[in-house]
Amino acid sequence: MAEYYERESLIDALMNYTWWDIDGYEIDDCDAKRAYIEDWLAIAPAANVRPVEKCKWENLVRCGFASVEATCSACGKTLIYKSWWHFCPNCGARVKKEQENK
Ligand SMILES: [Zn+2]
Repeated sequence: MAEYYERESLIDALMNYTWWDIDGYEIDDCDAKRAYIEDWLAIAPAANVRPVEKCKWENLVRCGFASVEATCSACGKTLIYKSWWHFCPNCGARVKKEQENK
């Protein structure tokens, strides 16, 4: 499975490493380090991705014989809860692992 990184977070992480030039001298010029990183990232393929939003079902309240209402923590919508939902049908947020299949 492909993994994606947020560009600025990756640049920040790489800026924290000690960099050495080809002659063995430490590169301590932040602008030079950033320029190297941006040059490398410029040749890497980019993808438009949207972060996966996570949610939990909250305020579970029994309503009727076999129905339970629950509120999505991401969008705040209250729905008739189905235990097999892995996504909120209103906003599409993914249910956190610890609450799946309960
Ligand atoms: Zn939602």
